[in-house]
Formats: sequence, structure tokens, C-alpha cells
Amino acid sequence: MISQNAASRFRGKIRRFKKISLTALLGGLVTISVLMTLTIMFISSYTSQKQSLINTTLSLNYSNAVQMSNTLDALFKSMQNNLAHDARYFADLDYSDSRKLNSALDLIKNSSNYFNSMTLVDSDGLVLSISPYSADSVGYHVSSEAAKTALRLQEPYISEAYKTPRKKRRIVFVSEPVFDAHGKFKGMIGGNIYLQDQNILNLLFGSQMKTSQGSHFFIVDSKGTLIYHPDTARIGENISRNTVVSKLLNNEKGKAQYRNLAGVDSLAGYYKVPTTDWGVVVVSPTQTVYDQLNHQIGLLILYTSVPFLLLTLIVIRVARQLARPFVSLTDLVQQVDQGRVDLPIMKPHWNREADLLNRTVLSALANFRKQREQLTYDARTDVLTGMTNRRTFEEVIQNWLDEGIRFSIVVLDIDRFKSINDTYGHHAGDEVLKHIANLIRLSVRPEDVSSRFGGEEFVVLLRDADTKEAYQIAENIRVSVAGSVMPVDRQVTISAGIAEHPLHSSSASELFHLADTALYRAKEEGRNRTVTIKALRK
Ligand code: GH3
Ligand code: MG
Ligand code: MG
Repeated sequence: MISQNAASRFRGKIRRFKKISLTALLGGLVTISVLMTLTIMFISSYTSQKQSLINTTLSLNYSNAVQMSNTLDALFKSMQNNLAHDARYFADLDYSDSRKLNSALDLIKNSSNYFNSMTLVDSDGLVLSISPYSADSVGYHVSSEAAKTALRLQEPYISEAYKTPRKKRRIVFVSEPVFDAHGKFKGMIGGNIYLQDQNILNLLFGSQMKTSQGSHFFIVDSKGTLIYHPDTARIGENISRNTVVSKLLNNEKGKAQYRNLAGVDSLAGYYKVPTTDWGVVVVSPTQTVYDQLNHQIGLLILYTSVPFLLLTLIVIRVARQLARPFVSLTDLVQQVDQGRVDLPIMKPHWNREADLLNRTVLSALANFRKQREQLTYDARTDVLTGMTNRRTFEEVIQNWLDEGIRFSIVVLDIDRFKSINDTYGHHAGDEVLKHIANLIRLSVRPEDVSSRFGGEEFVVLLRDADTKEAYQIAENIRVSVAGSVMPVDRQVTISAGIAEHPLHSSSASELFHLADTALYRAKEEGRNRTVTIKALRK
């Protein structure tokens, strides 16, 4: 048997557990929808911004590459112009006056900072002068392939990057031929750029490299050998396998996302320098774009989280307010169900439905309470006389017995009532019943309880009254009835029987029975009298 009860309790628990509160529901719905919106927003903003950042970086790198290659082009044109001018100057000089040659070369070298060193060579490749002066070169023949090529070509020349055989320097050599007034080849004047030392290239571009975050640039010659790189150790390295460099070697220019030789995903802009046939590559690791993007998304999350939290709080508040009528009305209905009588005055709710619900439930409860009070009254009252009925009498006597109250019970019966009915009709009989009920009510004290027991029989409970006091009150009733002008044209009398609690009995039915016995005796003795059980037992 327990199992059935326990099972139903368990089912109840499960049902309660499964139900979700309105606050949680609304809060949850809003949170989910806002989170989904934000997620979609973040994802779409991430993808679109990623592409736009990549494109911007590519364009920026490309335009930087173009700009740098233009600068380089202008630089080398200017170098060649200067050298051409110097060549004309040296054409008129006497090559045997080495002091004059040295000082002229020093002057030229120091008047511009284009070259790390400058050399004057005669038509046989003999080094006539070098600035700054170097004892182990002057008087020797040129040894580098670049110098030999320039001598052979007898025209303006810009070399590839090469390594000097003796000092192992990485060098780019720029030269102009020297012709005398008769057009005879006299040799050449050349400038050397030491690629791994402080030179014109890092003087020109070094600051640029530091300004643009995360990106760097490098310059390759027409064979793909590094001429300039922020990591000087790499200068001289051939990187023609690099995707972008191989495009440059194919005379292409443009922008590309590619993986460099170290396997780093990169964004590059690349462009050729026309004069030198070199290539400039400006490159940023793609990771820098992602870093920027993450930073932006982080900021976005930060800025959206504040209004989102605010919105959630507002929604929870509104949801609570919306749910409040449900909760308080449920409480109220429970209280009313448990017998609470007074209904609270509820403030109008700002939500139309909630307000309607409040008012409807309250008015339904008020109706319910009225009906219940009416039913209770009906259940406790005798319709004809308005006295409490037999059921109420039984309740009261039981309560008084339970509380140990001392009282007397008086049972009253109208004498020969049948003949009144017979003579004057049932309706007149009813009027007599009502009249006598009134007389009884008037004769008892406020603390007493008088009831119509049934038919033409009444019962009165006299609180704290012994037989003597009860006799007095019963006699008052009897006398007032006997002396009263009745609704019928006849004198009507009553008889009464009395028993006392706890003197005669402590049981309700026994007490009633004893009082009824006394009443029976009163009838026997001729009616219109009061008999106590006490008197019977004497
Ligand atoms: P007794 O003096 O021995 O009590 O005689 P009685 O005629 O009063 O007693 P009996 O028990 O013979 O008759 C009671 C009558 O009361 C019978 C019934 O018609 C009448 N009666 C009972 N209830 C009502 C009622 O509600 N209205 C009317 N008009 N008559 C009722
Ligand atoms: Mg009777
Ligand atoms: Mg009677």
C-alpha cells in the first residue's frame, strides 16, 4: 500500500521538477536569442573583417613596395648621374698624379653618402685610387667579376650582389666608364655598397621598417639573392624558390598571400626596380592580421557584453514582474482554499493581461467566497426559523464537551402541534414555529445556543448554567410562549425537559436522551411545564 502512495508522491515531485518558471523561461529565451545574435554577428564580422584586413594589408604592402622601388629607382639614377658627372671630371685629370687622384676621390666620396667606398680604375683594371684609402688594393688589378665585366662593357653598370674574394664582403658595385676628350676609354669610376654594413639602403629604409608594425621588407637582385633584409645575416642568401621572389624573377608585380620558405603564412606586395632589375617585397605575417582581428573582436565582445548584461537584467526584472501575478494569485487561491477570508487589495499591473488576470481572479475569488459563506450558512441554519440547525447543535455540544464547559441542555416541544396544523393549516403551523423560535431567541443569553432540532422540537444549550439556572430560563421561555399572542387564534404552549453536564452525563447523546426523557415526563404530567432530570430522579 505504501508503494502506491510513495509512487504518486514521486510522480508529483517529477512533475514539479519538470516545470519551468516564467522568469527562467523569458530570461533563457532572451539570453539564447541575444547570444545567438551576437555569435552570428561575431562570426560575420570576423569573416568580413578578416578578408578586408587581409586585402588592406596586401594593398598597403603593395603600395609600399611600389613606393620603395620608385625611391630605389630614383636613388640609383641619381647615383649613376653623379658617377657620370664624376667620370667627366676624372677624364681631364692626369692619372700619374696619385695624390691629386686620391684627394679628388676622397672629396667625391665624402660629398655624398651613396657609397661605402669608391674606386678609380684605369683601362687595364689597375686600381689607381680608393677612398677610403686601402693599401692592399691600390696598385693591384681588380679581381672581382663585377669590376671585370664593367671594364669589358665600357658602359654604365650595376652589378648583382657578390662576395669579394679577399674580404668576403657582400657588395653591389655601381660604375661609370671614363672616356678622355678624344673618346678613348680611360677606365672607370665605381662605388661600392657594403650590403651588410651601414649603407645608403638602411639609411633610406631603416626607419620605414620600424614604423609599420609586424611587417618588414627585403630587396633581391635579378638572381633572387638578398641585397637587403632586416636580418643582415641573411644578406647574400639566394631565395629564388620563394613564391613571391620567383614571380619577381618572372618580371611580375603584384600582391600575394603565400607561405614563405620558413613555412610562415605571409601577405606580400612586390614590385620591380626598373634601373637595377631588383625586386622589392614588403611582407607581413598573416598572423598579425589575426592578432589585430582578435583584438578588435575582443573589444567588440567587451563593448557588447555591457549592454547585453543590462538587457538580461532588465528582462529578468520584467519577467519577474510579469510572473508576479501568477505567483501571488496562486498563493492567494491556496490561502482562500485553506479558509482565509480577507482578499487583499491589489495594485493595478502595468501589463494588460496580467492586470486582467489579477482582476478576474480576485473577482472570481470574491464570488467564490460569497458562495462558500452562503453554503456554510445554509448548511448551519434552519431555513424556516433562521435558528442554527440540528447539525450545528451537534457540533456545538461536542465542542463544549471537548472543552469541558459546564452547561445545561433544554429540549422544548410544542404541545399538540398536530392539532394546530390540522385546524389552521400547515402554513399557519409554520408561522407558529417561527414565532416560538423568536420567543426562545429573546429569552436566552448571548452565550447560549438555541437550535431547531427538527419538526416542532427545539434544543437550547445554556453555557455555564446548572439545572437551577436552566430551569429558570426554560420557565421564562415557557411562560413567554404561553402568554404570547400567537399567529393563530389560539393559545399555544410548550413543554421542556432539562439535563446538566457534567452532573448527569458526559455524552452528548446521553444528555439529549436524559433531557428528552424529562420532556416526555412533562408531557405525561399534563404539558405546559418544565421537568428536570434532577426532579425525575428524586
Ligand atoms: P404532543 O403534545 O404530544 O407533542 O403532540 P403533537 O401533536 O405536538 O405531537 P406529534 O408528534 O403527534 O405531532 C407533531 C406534528 O408537527 C406533526 C407534524 O405535522 C408537525 N410538524 C412537524 N414539522 C412541521 C413543520 O415544519 N411545519 C408544520 N406546519 N408542521 C410540522
Ligand atoms: Mg414532537
Ligand atoms: Mg409536539
